[in-house]
Amino acid sequence: MSKAFKGKTCVYCARVACSSTGDHVFAREFFPKNKRADLPKVPACEACNQAKSRLEHYLTAVLPFAGRHADASSVLNEMVPPRLAKNRRLHAALSASQGRAWVKQGGMLRPTLTLHLDAQQFEGLLRYVVRGLVAFHWNTVVPSDYAVGVAVWTEEGERLITAALPKRGRAIARATWGDGAFEYEGAQAIDDPHLSIWRLHLYGGAVLGGDSAGATDTNSRVWVMTSREAVPDLFRY
Ligand SMILES: [Zn+2]
Repeated sequence: MSKAFKGKTCVYCARVACSSTGDHVFAREFFPKNKRADLPKVPACEACNQAKSRLEHYLTAVLPFAGRHADASSVLNEMVPPRLAKNRRLHAALSASQGRAWVKQGGMLRPTLTLHLDAQQFEGLLRYVVRGLVAFHWNTVVPSDYAVGVAVWTEEGERLITAALPKRGRAIARATWGDGAFEYEGAQAIDDPHLSIWRLHLYGGAVLGGDSAGATDTNSRVWVMTSREAVPDLFRY
């Protein structure tokens, strides 16, 4: 095991000197095998690593269904079937929750496969991911009593929040991994290095929002905020 990640503060639970491993902020299984080089890694304790793995186990099997990036379909074709074969219960739950909806894309209505994503597991993983990104980009660990909120808004909601954001930050992080499969931007507040806001675009815009009952605007960006106070209502997914 690499010494670089042992005995450090776990970036997920913020316990000091308890890390036992280097954890990939984005599980390698989200990407095709030839696009896993240099993914960001952070120190994590055994308990956090295992809890996060359980969420990844579910989401690496489910999230590619919602993606539009070319690699979402290669992950779907090559890697999801073996994962589902190993997990019959998940397979049955996914089959039961599949439907079709008409969504607006580039001004046209197109039929899209919809799946019910378990919002709690999705939100749970993003809480880990964003703590990991703050540590990876800015070398700071978000304290355990900070709240992390997750939101998916309509395009109108995004326009409103973007207009409301401060124009300057202490630091900005921008990155893309797996050949554009996962992209994000984050901004760190000037007066509090642990306060941050992130906009993530997964698999070229996984269809996450929208009303599956009919023609609708969907949104494919997820917003995540770390803050000292309880998460504002807007950030309850
Ligand atoms: Zn931990």
